[in-house]
Amino acid sequence: MARTRTRVRRAIQRVPRSSAALEEFDRGACPGHLATRRQLRAREVSPGGHGPVAVLRCARCRYTPQWSCSHPGRAWLYDLRLTRPKRIPTLAQEWALDRAMAARSTCPRCKRRYVYCLPLRTLGSCLECHDGTPADPTSYTAVPAAHSLAA
Ligand SMILES: [Zn+2]
Ligand SMILES: [Zn+2]
Repeated sequence: MARTRTRVRRAIQRVPRSSAALEEFDRGACPGHLATRRQLRAREVSPGGHGPVAVLRCARCRYTPQWSCSHPGRAWLYDLRLTRPKRIPTLAQEWALDRAMAARSTCPRCKRRYVYCLPLRTLGSCLECHDGTPADPTSYTAVPAAHSLAA
């Protein structure tokens, strides 16, 4: 009967480094192909469906190299060779975004599309339709009737 584990269970946080689930590295001694979540974000890549492959030990643990680090200060390390570029928006998403922008910058009365968002919630139209303040002709494009948003 092997009863070697009972002793380890009492020391909840303290696991010998050699038996830690993931390999652990100290700050400054981390292999170049590993990166933290923040570094992945800076490179605009995602883990690509892969979990962390190692642990970046917290600063406190540098003084206890024989123990595994399970402190909140540790960071997960991801393998850069497995990462993928962040999903770029598809054409359909861009169209949806553009439609949303068009809805906010197009006057429902005169159908002009302005370069800025209109006070549609308060006035319900552009200033020119609201009180006759002439709009800067360079600040809008007239939307052809066929392209009107009502359609
Ligand atoms: Zn630690
Ligand atoms: Zn208008």
